[in-house]
Amino acid sequence: MALIVQKYGGTSVGTPERIKNVARRVLETQREGHQVVAVVSAMSGVTDGLIKLAREISTDPSEAEMDVLLATGEQQTIALTAMAINALGGKGASVTGAQAGIQTDGVHTKARIANISPQHVHDLLDSGHVVIVAGFQGQTSGGRITTLGRGGSDLTAIARAAALKADLCQIFTDVDGVYTCDPRVVPDARRIPVISYEEMLEMASSGSKVMQSRSVEFAKKFGVKFEVRNSMNANPGTLVTEEDMSMESVVIRGVSIERDQAKITIRGVPDQPGNASQIFMALAAAHLNIDMIVQNVGLDGKANISFTLHKNDLAKATSTLNPVLAALPGVLLSADDGIAKLSAVGIGMRSHSGVAAHMFEALGRAGINIQMITTSEIKISVTVDQDVIAEAARVVHKSFKLNESFITT
Ligand code: ASP
Ligand code: MG
Repeated sequence: MALIVQKYGGTSVGTPERIKNVARRVLETQREGHQVVAVVSAMSGVTDGLIKLAREISTDPSEAEMDVLLATGEQQTIALTAMAINALGGKGASVTGAQAGIQTDGVHTKARIANISPQHVHDLLDSGHVVIVAGFQGQTSGGRITTLGRGGSDLTAIARAAALKADLCQIFTDVDGVYTCDPRVVPDARRIPVISYEEMLEMASSGSKVMQSRSVEFAKKFGVKFEVRNSMNANPGTLVTEEDMSMESVVIRGVSIERDQAKITIRGVPDQPGNASQIFMALAAAHLNIDMIVQNVGLDGKANISFTLHKNDLAKATSTLNPVLAALPGVLLSADDGIAKLSAVGIGMRSHSGVAAHMFEALGRAGINIQMITTSEIKISVTVDQDVIAEAARVVHKSFKLNESFITT
């Protein structure tokens, strides 16, 4: 007998029919002889609807009250799922985050899990229940309701699996797993059978968002292996795990893209200590999220700095920077809001040479101009004109033969 934690996301519980589907699936797993904990999200659109509702009441609602409100989304789903299980003749028990022993810090709307007391859930499992846990929510030591940030049901499931020492953690979603690239952009993209935590994190931070990044970080830290699978079929999914030697033989695991990026270039920055800090401190104080940063080697005592950010933040960034730059004589700012980022990710990059050259050559041959380049140990990112991002993705995907099946040597 194994203990299995399954998580069902918003689309997987998006309609009454789908909730019944979840009930059937968890009961099937239980009938195979396992103990099952199902972590569920709010039905799709419910959390967004609640946020909208709050905004109609107040432009600046307290974050503590937002948590009380948002936690109701998951609370609906646990009750409905338990009812569906009971209607099928099973024994379902719904528990809120607090009842499930999930204790967090007091940072409302993005709380961190401090501790999980697993006893109550163990007791319910031992008495033959399928336990339905509300995702995304917890409680402070003082008894206030908290939430774990958007997409936080993933974190509930991973942390739950760690606390219960589960044998298996399955994240059910509306796709078959993690793909080598977005199949809407690259039609011959393939499901990745196994991916390392680090690759998964790099893919997520560069646009392929299957899961909340915090939950993958948590899984990595506590060594929770998990599968990403489709709740609407029985297809195999993607196993996310610690890397091993065989995984290095695949040079590039996947390609991710991020549209709607903007680039700001600041020319003629005096090449002296403190200038980059002034610029980025101002951006940080305005809570602007900066992605790639490139500075060239100073020439004639001047340097150029470029960075990228989301297109929606461009206006705020320029208005934040204008007064800062006014104090630096001869400095020029230019902006471009029509760019996109493409990243090739793979731990195999560490042990193979010429990977960047190969990628740039493929883009060059296709006549695609590369604007900025940044790399990490397992990722090469470039920005290109937004209009050519889909073609760039197809070209790079093909050049690394990601459309062919994975061969591990
Ligand atoms: N319902 C929450 C959200 O929409 C949490 C989740 O779905 O994981 O962000
Ligand atoms: Mg979700």
